[in-house]
Amino acid sequence: MPAETASAIREHGEASCAAGQTPVSGGQLAGGFPTREEIERLQLRKVRSLLQTILPANPFYARKLAACGPTIAPASLDAYTRLIPITTRHELVRDRLANPPYGTDLTFPLEAYVRCHQTSGTTTMPMRWLDTSESWNHLVDNWVQILGVATVTPRDRFFFAFSFGPFLGFWSALDAVHRLGCFCFAGGSMSSMGRLQAILDNGITAVCCTPTYAQHLGEVARDKKVDMTRSRVRLLIVAGEGGGSIPATRARIERLWPGAAVFDHHGMTEVGPVTYQCPARPGSLHVLESAYLPEVIDPHTEQPVRAGETGELVLTTLDRIGSPLLRYRTGDLVKPRPRSVCVCGCHELALDGGILGRSDDMVVVRGVNVYPSLVEAIVRGYPEVAEYRVQLDCRSAMIELSLEVEPVADSPGLDSLTRRLEQSFQAALNLRAPVMLLPAGSLPRFEMKAQRWVRVTE
Ligand SMILES: [Zn+2]
Repeated sequence: MPAETASAIREHGEASCAAGQTPVSGGQLAGGFPTREEIERLQLRKVRSLLQTILPANPFYARKLAACGPTIAPASLDAYTRLIPITTRHELVRDRLANPPYGTDLTFPLEAYVRCHQTSGTTTMPMRWLDTSESWNHLVDNWVQILGVATVTPRDRFFFAFSFGPFLGFWSALDAVHRLGCFCFAGGSMSSMGRLQAILDNGITAVCCTPTYAQHLGEVARDKKVDMTRSRVRLLIVAGEGGGSIPATRARIERLWPGAAVFDHHGMTEVGPVTYQCPARPGSLHVLESAYLPEVIDPHTEQPVRAGETGELVLTTLDRIGSPLLRYRTGDLVKPRPRSVCVCGCHELALDGGILGRSDDMVVVRGVNVYPSLVEAIVRGYPEVAEYRVQLDCRSAMIELSLEVEPVADSPGLDSLTRRLEQSFQAALNLRAPVMLLPAGSLPRFEMKAQRWVRVTE
């Protein structure tokens, strides 16, 4: 890590695996990692301090935790998870409906808040989320750490191929990039060709966008014969969808962007920037445990799942004191690896395959649990597929899954593509999934979160 980045992290970051580390070549990290005990000691200290600050000042949690007693000082992290109930999105929505426009999960008077973001509301109504300067700075700290792992230096030149909106997406990344002293170009409301030109003209080295859009931009460059040998892009920092940790998707994007590597990350408006790609094991994400206390639970029983099992990520935001979340069910499906030191040297929780999908998106088709990352992993194994759409026919009790695929024009072997895809679904999931070929250019492309799953209900 360059001295400038390291000092920025030391100045602003907490002791965590992503901070204070010593890089070796190729983004590998070694040494300087907090031990498991150190991480948990820090988390317990922060949990206690958080509870002390928000009770009774925060009306939402004062009400919610009233039954837990007047003072809460858990003796251990286990005691904390036993004592504190889960927070759900529906509770937060109900609180906002009853107390518009911001709800009551506010620790300070309204005048203390300087930023407002809004969730995209894909599953419930959008929620506004307020931050104080202090809370916001913590989110920027998180991104500074993430950028450190991604080997970003002040010499990097950033392009956000992305229209900034009311949700948190990349706003805190933008501030972190500024803090590190990098050049920065916000490329909202531009055509794909305009963005490619800006990336070439400005000597851009790092592009931030969704994995779907990284792929789309690469395809536009290829189809329009843009000379990408002029591109200096070395990093594609992707978020907003799960594809950045799926090997076939990563390979596909990296083929379209010669010389660039995909770096995956995920975060949420109501939580903050949560994970960073393991530098030694792309395809898995580490949780920034200095800022978030993670748990992985069975979505039905709310009991912890074992390592290697799929469950829902639950997070406590340790630093976002102005609008905290205690044991919040994020709705993200993940597969935790056993809690041991990672090959990158870090002790923070690793999530194999990154974010596997949303628990709301998981469907049971003929007894098989199917979620978006599984389908993505199968389909992206076929370079001749340009885009796809999943149809879920929910009109009868037995949900049927089928696929529409749009080929890359003039690819060889299109005659057998649908048959080969159907065989892959059969082999991977033991599932009969009819595949239909559509004409090139008939499916939508997405700049923001891709919406490839369609439910037919009537
Ligand atoms: Zn790792």
